[in-house]
Amino acid sequence: MAASHHHVRHWSRRSALGLIACVPLGLASMANAAECIDPASLSAAQKSMRKSLGFRTSSDATKRCGLCAFFTAAQPGCGKCALLSGGIVPAEGVCDSWAKKS
Ligand code: SF4
Repeated sequence: MAASHHHVRHWSRRSALGLIACVPLGLASMANAAECIDPASLSAAQKSMRKSLGFRTSSDATKRCGLCAFFTAAQPGCGKCALLSGGIVPAEGVCDSWAKKS
């Protein structure tokens, strides 16, 4: 019994360490997005618009708001999206309506 208890503790400690290792990356991207816009300040209409466009943080460096035809750069790393009625988006965001800037 003592041996299996030890095993369980060892396992959860390792997965806890794994979680901790992931946190700084997650916080870093959240901090970037937060510099552009505080999600809490979005109106219900803006939130549902973002949701229906599938707005998210892009994992593709060649397909993101900063390279989109609807994007107008504002402060560094942020811009306004014409499709989101001029709403502020982080340059590293993307949505289902992304169109390559010509
Ligand atoms: S249309 Fe989509 S990908 Fe393009 S700037 Fe707006 S939110 Fe970003």
